[in-house]
Amino acid sequence: MAKKKFWLVFVSFVLCAVMFSVVFGLFWGCSPLKKASKNLTSYSIDAELDSAYVVHAKQTIDFYNSTGVEVQDICLHLYARAFREEAVIKPYTNLNKASCFPLGESFGDIEISRVDVNGDSANFEYIGQDQDILKINQKISPNGRAQIYLEYSVTLPNCTHRMGYYNGTVNLGNWYPIVCYYSGEWKTDPYYSTGDPFASECANYSVKITYPPEFDCYATGNLQSEQETDKKTSEFSALAVRDFAIVLSNKSIVKTVSANKTSVSYVGYSGDSDIDKNANIAALALSYFSKNFGDYPYDNLVVIKSAFLQGGMEYPNLVIVSDAITDADELSKVIVHEIAHQWWYGLVGNNQVSEPWLDEALAEYSTCLFFEENNIGETYAEMIKDATASYMIYVDVIGSLNGKVNLAMNLPVNKYSSEYEYTYMIYVKGVIMFDSLREVVGREKLIKALKKYCKTYAFKVANGANFIEIVKKTCHKDIDGFFSGWLEGTNVVATTFVSIV
Ligand SMILES: [Zn+2]
Repeated sequence: MAKKKFWLVFVSFVLCAVMFSVVFGLFWGCSPLKKASKNLTSYSIDAELDSAYVVHAKQTIDFYNSTGVEVQDICLHLYARAFREEAVIKPYTNLNKASCFPLGESFGDIEISRVDVNGDSANFEYIGQDQDILKINQKISPNGRAQIYLEYSVTLPNCTHRMGYYNGTVNLGNWYPIVCYYSGEWKTDPYYSTGDPFASECANYSVKITYPPEFDCYATGNLQSEQETDKKTSEFSALAVRDFAIVLSNKSIVKTVSANKTSVSYVGYSGDSDIDKNANIAALALSYFSKNFGDYPYDNLVVIKSAFLQGGMEYPNLVIVSDAITDADELSKVIVHEIAHQWWYGLVGNNQVSEPWLDEALAEYSTCLFFEENNIGETYAEMIKDATASYMIYVDVIGSLNGKVNLAMNLPVNKYSSEYEYTYMIYVKGVIMFDSLREVVGREKLIKALKKYCKTYAFKVANGANFIEIVKKTCHKDIDGFFSGWLEGTNVVATTFVSIV
């Protein structure tokens, strides 16, 4: 009898504990996104792409002032203005103009027809180096909110850029007015041609897009509904993401697999025979980075093939890979690199204009780490050897041509003299730097530091000093000299090679 009573009490206790942890988990513990989505700015966009490739949109921004100070105005990037004919700073260079505009130069723009704040017509002006910032006069106290309502139309250029249409695909990247990043002041950098010249805080999104019926639609966030009449309409929602991108394709085929709790899709072109393989690589990358850096908190990740002038481009929950890539190994690397950005850029943000090395070098080195563990292409050793050899040739050639070589990794994107210099300093030297760091602190501690960096700055914006501090604390090494030498490029070429070969 006593035994029976004990078991009854024990079983009841266990049941209560299980129920409590399930309820607690559902509402609090298991929802890092819900937690992260509190006190963020929210965007609600209702947009329609017409058959002339013009997007007509109504957008409400429920702005939350997280700057810690009273702001006198709110600044929004109008990246689409960089595509207008009279723009002084173009988002492409003379070198990549031909691949950007296969059918000849084409222009785009955004025209704002209405701006209200808290229900009243607002005072606004265009500012910034290239008149591509919408400055709205509105005082907002710390932790205060303001509701901004915009009506606008975006004309898409016929091109293979982040925003444009070409040959059956439509890229809607950096297409809508987005609040500038605030750090002591609004950061109003224009849309430079080099790197990914963006910085933004995480926000919540609810986006409805209507489009011609020949397309399928893929976007950041979770698909909430889809309707088709003579047009198609898709609604998406996303919590705590840094940006919102959409890709439309009129020739898509999809392979979806699961990785951890995430649905991972690879979207190719009909007739492609590599969609299974690429979906599996994407899932492997998501699992590997989740294990080593921290859980991917979102439900979906889409890797989509599209007309694109670079190898690939990262957006939250959605990455673009270029249809111009013909080599399978190259495509695998691009897929893994862009997925690494879900952590370095997506979860942990940084100012990609002022410190492009922080997310790019990390994403590129994370790609090497992935290939070290997953035997599906080049090995880690081969990747480091290739990077070193390629870096040496670059330094040799540029040194012979110019008599000197810029070796700085810590410049803003617009201070690199060419796309080559940017690529070699940020990506190639970045990989060599992280491999060298691993030599100093060991692989285990390096991974531990990356995990700590992700945990500390997830859903926030970090900077290089924050990263170095985490590495120092985790690895118990005074590595200030290490980073300053590599980042400032003060270690002369010969010593660099002595230390990396
Ligand atoms: Zn990248």
